[in-house]
Amino acid sequence: HPTAPTVMTMNGHFAGVGENGTADFQHGVQIIDADKNFNENLGAYLQKESIIRSGFNYHIISVFGSQSTGKSTLLNYLFGTHFGVMSEQERRQTTKGIWMSKNKNEAAGKGGEKGMAENILVMDVEGTDGRERGEDQDFERKSALFALATSEVLIVNIWEHQVGLYQGANMGLLKTVFEVNLQLFLKDAKSVPRSLLFFVIRDHLGTTPLANLKQTLVQDLQRIWSGLSKPPGMDKSTIEDYFDFAFVALPHKILQPEKFEQEVQSLGTRFREGYKDPKRLGLVDESSEPVLLPEYHRRIPADGFPIYAKGVWDQIDSNKDLDLPTQQELLAQFRCDEISKEVLIPFDEAIVPLEEQQSQAVAAGTPSTIPKLGKTMTTARSTLLAAFEVEASRYHKGVFKTKQAELATKVDSRLKALFQGQMTAAHKSGLNDFSEGVTQSVKAGQKKSGNYDFHKIVQSEKEKALKLFESEAQGSLVSGTSWSDYKSQMNSFRRELDEASGRLRKEEMRRLANRSERWVRAKLDESVGLEFNKLGSGRAGSGAPVEGQKPATEKDLWDRIWSVFTDTVSHAESRFTDRARSFDASPDEVEVGLWRLRRKSWGALHAKIDEEMMEGNLLLKLRENFEDKFRYDDEGVPRIWRPSDDIEGLYTKARESTIELIPLLTRFRLARTSSAPPLDAWIGDAPPNVTAADEEDLPPIGGVDDDEGKTMEDEMTILSDAKAADLSTRFKKTADGVYVEAKRSAIGGVTQ
Ligand code: GDP
Ligand code: MG
Repeated sequence: HPTAPTVMTMNGHFAGVGENGTADFQHGVQIIDADKNFNENLGAYLQKESIIRSGFNYHIISVFGSQSTGKSTLLNYLFGTHFGVMSEQERRQTTKGIWMSKNKNEAAGKGGEKGMAENILVMDVEGTDGRERGEDQDFERKSALFALATSEVLIVNIWEHQVGLYQGANMGLLKTVFEVNLQLFLKDAKSVPRSLLFFVIRDHLGTTPLANLKQTLVQDLQRIWSGLSKPPGMDKSTIEDYFDFAFVALPHKILQPEKFEQEVQSLGTRFREGYKDPKRLGLVDESSEPVLLPEYHRRIPADGFPIYAKGVWDQIDSNKDLDLPTQQELLAQFRCDEISKEVLIPFDEAIVPLEEQQSQAVAAGTPSTIPKLGKTMTTARSTLLAAFEVEASRYHKGVFKTKQAELATKVDSRLKALFQGQMTAAHKSGLNDFSEGVTQSVKAGQKKSGNYDFHKIVQSEKEKALKLFESEAQGSLVSGTSWSDYKSQMNSFRRELDEASGRLRKEEMRRLANRSERWVRAKLDESVGLEFNKLGSGRAGSGAPVEGQKPATEKDLWDRIWSVFTDTVSHAESRFTDRARSFDASPDEVEVGLWRLRRKSWGALHAKIDEEMMEGNLLLKLRENFEDKFRYDDEGVPRIWRPSDDIEGLYTKARESTIELIPLLTRFRLARTSSAPPLDAWIGDAPPNVTAADEEDLPPIGGVDDDEGKTMEDEMTILSDAKAADLSTRFKKTADGVYVEAKRSAIGGVTQ
């Protein structure tokens, strides 16, 4: 039936491909069609027959011979194939082009003497005698070249009665085979393995023993060989330099069908793997020895065979010199690239998500390390390289090595980027954690006792950070690479930790300075306040005298304030120095800190004095001072005024005594030197390493910072003259009031 999708051997289209284009491969695959086109489905066929992944574990066998000599029939019997066979009635050519089929014989893959090799691929090459193709020898030559370039064993199918007919079609074909073989060798002798020419003599009647037939054939072959024009340097070569020969005779299939089948079956067992007996050079014994010898193998990996075969055929068909080494290199390049792509798929599955995770974290500015990165990378890398090696090392060694290096470079550059990203993340988060850890510990210390060891905190956080960094770096190493090393990253991390420590120490210095200042302020608040309170007592030295000190007088108020002040600050200074030293602050830093502390303390004292000198406060103190002098006698007993008392005299004396205080209060002046305290010397010169930031929050001090245009006199002026005069007036009024009241009470006392 014309539309049936069977073997369309007669119309020149690819058979074995269904009408919808999908391959069914019922009869194998037609590698080359009648129009000399190469079939792109060869790969699919090898896939379907599970040969594509078998590496070198496969064999290719071709058959040659005149038209209609029972070649296809023989192959079908030998290998259980379904090559098209001419029907007994039609007698016309059936096989067009070159067909290929996997060995379907039950013995395939079975071991022992009766078994056959695994994965035998059989090629049925179009026969020739010019009957169908006229004088066109082109295809014959091309298919011979193709078979020779690919096959380990070339079966030469010949009728017994053709043996010795030197002019026969078979001999013509063999001449072609030898010629193309020489042509191949011309390019690169090493790249062309030996082949076995396996003569199968058909319709052997038995009258002429095989040995004789063999002898005749060998003579003919040598005759052909010597008749060939050989390229220079090869003229001494013999046919055995390139070929091994084996011979077998089969009985007549029609006349002795049982015997035929029996002997074909035993012939089948020859198609197993084996080694040649070195004593029998050039000839394989015809009885039972295996014919699939390692030296015949073309060493084209099965997965590369479709590409290789196509490349070879394209070369042959376009009448270019067949250059097998080049073909093999091209094949290696193509296949190595394909294998690279294949092995990159699982690699990408493992690595791309990590790359994305990392770049997203970087974009979001939230650096975080990827757990088990090193392990994942190592596994992905070694799996990829191992898989590549398994598949690609079967190809041309040089190309393989180059592509292997390319692949390693490619994946390593990605893994290296991941590794470096990981190190950057570990670095950044390590620094963050370190600063955060120190800050938190300081806070906890402040909360607990306020007495914490900053140095210890920094040291232990640093150690923790370095340990974590190292373990993260360790866990990110990709074993088997020279680039995954974290020495320099570790050094830069350590360097930046030190820098961060320096910054944190500066902050701690500031905190310490603030604490010291607060402490000084609180102390001054109390002690200076006390000194001013003493003014309220008109009798100097009242209250318990302080041990070891001269009893206080009103006159040395400022002396006492100055000494309380300097004592307080020097106490704060020594505590400051001790603390700062404890966390390795440099002498320079300590010097600046102390200088700032002295200036700030002076500011605090000044503020405290100003507070005490506020009008209301001062007036109250003067009034208390006056009343104390006026209303109490020398023993501190309150006076009961009598009219006889010299109220006016006592009033005037007390009032004058209190008024004398006002000029004393207007200026900070030491009684013992009659001049301002040595503030500038006490503060000292600004240390040489003071920075602008250090000076920023320091208000100028008159007489110390001379460029401010404010003198020491200005600095030490507590009350302006006008204010002092005003105070004096207001005090007098208050005192007058007290006097009038005393007067009244004296008179009242009398009348009572
Ligand atoms: P091919 O063209 O060489 O592939 O030959 P075929 O296998 O198509 O067979 C051609 C014809 O020869 C068919 O009619 C077969 O039946 C017949 N034939 C096959 N094997 C033998 C054989 O061993 N002896 C003889 N005399 N005829 C055979
Ligand atoms: Mg045929």
